[in-house]
Amino acid sequence: MRSLLFLAGLAFAASAQAQFRLPNLDINRLVDTAKNVGKAVKEIDEPEEIAMGRDVASRLLGAAPLVADPQLQRYVNSVGRWLAAQTERPDLPWQFGVLDHPNVNAFAVPGGTIFITRGLLDRMRNEAELAGVLGHEIVHVLRKHHLKAIQKGAQTALAGDALSTALKDRGGAARDKLIALGAEVYSRGLDKSDELEADRLGIVIAARAGYDAYGLPSVLQALQAMSAQDSTLALMFKTHPAPGERLDALSEKMQPLLDAYAGQAQLGDRFLRQIKK
Ligand SMILES: [Zn+2]
Repeated sequence: MRSLLFLAGLAFAASAQAQFRLPNLDINRLVDTAKNVGKAVKEIDEPEEIAMGRDVASRLLGAAPLVADPQLQRYVNSVGRWLAAQTERPDLPWQFGVLDHPNVNAFAVPGGTIFITRGLLDRMRNEAELAGVLGHEIVHVLRKHHLKAIQKGAQTALAGDALSTALKDRGGAARDKLIALGAEVYSRGLDKSDELEADRLGIVIAARAGYDAYGLPSVLQALQAMSAQDSTLALMFKTHPAPGERLDALSEKMQPLLDAYAGQAQLGDRFLRQIKK
């Protein structure tokens, strides 16, 4: 069935990609942004943040394509943009994409591009769970978690005059290092405190948008119930604290809010219809 759907959607694959309006990886821009590592994060302006995110997103899209299903992509975008509209950065060029990959994962790049894998979507039962996960990723963008991590990495990797060398060194090792830098943050993961903050504030965003606040906790419970040996979880478990630890942290700090907003919308039927389970 899935392969049939895939074939049916194939004709639309190009338009799904086009929705993203991603330019080719522009290493000069990545270098220009990295050149500013000496500056504090607040001095990286929003256009630079967005440009860097587009470059990193292009790179990550090379590893797994978008699911060739425009209806699914539109649905996840509409949920994501509704959530983003509740935040203090509603005007970023927010875009949300489902990657065609069986692994369980989701991630955000600077400037407002967020990906979730088909493997994670398949583990969810309702829209409140999707909102919980997207809310978590939206917080990474709002709080510039990845932007700060990439800057920190650049300070180490490109010390001294390596930056100016990299700028002139077309096709050289220093340039390769720069390209790898952004992607590396995604295989290494963020600090645990960033992840737990994204859990807490993501729940606030989902609740503010009208969803049952237990969406994210219930996804974490589903992941906790999966075998730790399951290879589709490997990267998620490597880059995030264990689900049990995240659940404990949430109940410690967020229990009153969770209980206050537990009765809001779950939208199970709409979710299952849209993702064609
Ligand atoms: Zn995260």
